[in-house]
Amino acid sequence: MRKLVSIQKVLDIKSIEGADAIEVAKVLGWSVVVKKNEFKVGDMVVYAEIDSVFPDKPEFEFLRPRKFRIKTMKLRGQVSQGICFPLDILPDGEYVEDQEVTDILEVVKFEPPIPKELQGLVKGTFPEFLVKTDETRVQVLQRQLTESKGDVYVVTEKLDGTSTTFYLHNDEFGVCSRNLDLLETEGNLYWKMARKYDIEEKLRKLGRNIALQGETIGEGIQSNKYKLQGHEFHVFNIFDIDKHGYVNPEEFNAIVKELGLNAVPVLDDVFIMHDKIDELVEYAKGFSVLNNKTKREGVVIKLRDHETGEGHSFKSINPEFLLKYGDD
Ligand code: ATP
Ligand code: MN
Repeated sequence: MRKLVSIQKVLDIKSIEGADAIEVAKVLGWSVVVKKNEFKVGDMVVYAEIDSVFPDKPEFEFLRPRKFRIKTMKLRGQVSQGICFPLDILPDGEYVEDQEVTDILEVVKFEPPIPKELQGLVKGTFPEFLVKTDETRVQVLQRQLTESKGDVYVVTEKLDGTSTTFYLHNDEFGVCSRNLDLLETEGNLYWKMARKYDIEEKLRKLGRNIALQGETIGEGIQSNKYKLQGHEFHVFNIFDIDKHGYVNPEEFNAIVKELGLNAVPVLDDVFIMHDKIDELVEYAKGFSVLNNKTKREGVVIKLRDHETGEGHSFKSINPEFLLKYGDD
């Protein structure tokens, strides 16, 4: 789970060219614009990440025009992600570095509304024999990156759609959204994708307990930034249910080919890890392989030899994408 608001140390402060009232602080791996001289290196601050929504209270009145929501901004040419407050906005008490204070401040996460087509009828919660799709942001992973230096990773484009899982488990075929197992209905988009690609038939042919996880993109989803007609499903994970782990890249490619499906675009299949967060954010910039006029949302960087999955991949989101689409 993301720590939206926490106690963090100011790691660095730099001036912004041409600006005399503001400067840029480094908190975790984030760059945050702050008032000049409000903080100094080593200070503890309350840091709130983008997607934080503050309560409608007098002390946060200045956030009203922004609907109390923290978004990616650009000030004097400097990208700013998040917001820093002095510790005294917290109730009296003892606080330690990295402590989460989201609830204390009554901050909640911004969640975009879900279109009707994507809601569906619920068959059950997300199956426990699978793992939900999720990726941690690179800005909070400094220690893990340093530990992974030199390891080989695979970089894919992060597609901005809706997480889709198809599974065959003990002869039962199922279709899931990010968080739910869904009943088959005519109008439900996830099931439409299963029918479009004949997923049930294909998985039965494979004849094993397996799940395909990918992103469905296109009309009606996240403003269809790739300007597609209809919808496409792009696989990013294949999960071996019996082993309770992901298949390796070779097996992944073989299965995707055998089933005649599309995978998410691969940007680099031998990426040697380094631990410079700013460079990994820079690397996320660029345009989509699917539409060269659309800024890409970012990249997902995954350890080449991973079986267990969790904790072996992360995302780097393109700040230019967030600026353009407003952290949607
Ligand atoms: P956050 O946790 O940062 O608040 P979030 O949990 O909504 O945000 P996303 O930003 O949607 O997460 O990022 C994770 C999702 O990215 C995964 O659930 C998956 O559906 C999607 N995704 C898109 N492209 C890829 C890809 N190439 N590899 C892995 N996941 C991908
Ligand atoms: Mn997440």
